[in-house]
Amino acid sequence: MRQARPLRILLAFDFDGTLAPIAEVAEEATIAPDAVAFCRWASSLPEVTLAVVSGRDLEDVAARTAGLHAFRSGSHGLELSSPLGERLRSVAARPLEPPAALIDAAAGAEMRIERKRHGVALHWRGASDAGDVPDIIDAFRKWAGDEGLQIIDGRLVVEARIPGPSKKDILMELAGLTAAQRVIYVGDDLTDFEALEWAASHGSAFVVASAERLEYPSGSEVTHSLPDLFARLRVALEPTSGS
Ligand SMILES: [Mg+2]
Repeated sequence: MRQARPLRILLAFDFDGTLAPIAEVAEEATIAPDAVAFCRWASSLPEVTLAVVSGRDLEDVAARTAGLHAFRSGSHGLELSSPLGERLRSVAARPLEPPAALIDAAAGAEMRIERKRHGVALHWRGASDAGDVPDIIDAFRKWAGDEGLQIIDGRLVVEARIPGPSKKDILMELAGLTAAQRVIYVGDDLTDFEALEWAASHGSAFVVASAERLEYPSGSEVTHSLPDLFARLRVALEPTSGS
């Protein structure tokens, strides 16, 4: 009997909270050694294409995943590069600056403003319990709306970004580009949910659970540790035998 050809698989990961443990300060996040080993093994399989899809700037996520043979997307889908580093999509940087009063109020509440190539993020991980945090978030959303920016909600963070393709759009684009017959996506945050839902109906979706409770998108498998995740992914990537 003829051996069935293995399915072409697109295997895509979010970065922070997924391949890299969440760091108090985003600049300090580094990819887990287990993740490097797993990704190298997975991308060596001829039927697997690897991708990292992050909210970070593309150059930032590329530097943090150097050594992986992977497509990379930054700014939640605005930028895309091939495994050889060719730019497949770029968007000009746009400096965005919230009003000074908002920045002062955020600093006063120990919230953090992160300026990115295509957006500004307001973080409240570790912020004071002062009652004005929700008001500052509302003011940030209003400013973003007035500027015509797209709001991307995450865990303890909200980002105002130049409107454009999402992580799900990137997943769909890469699936087409690589003629993937099966898509596996792994993420941890609200910003991954659309991509997870799409992957669940085109292959499988895994959510890395976090201590900060979230509801998980339907169809996703929940994992609580990287060793467990990679063990399950290895099973999922085993070539189907027979028929
Ligand atoms: Mg994440």
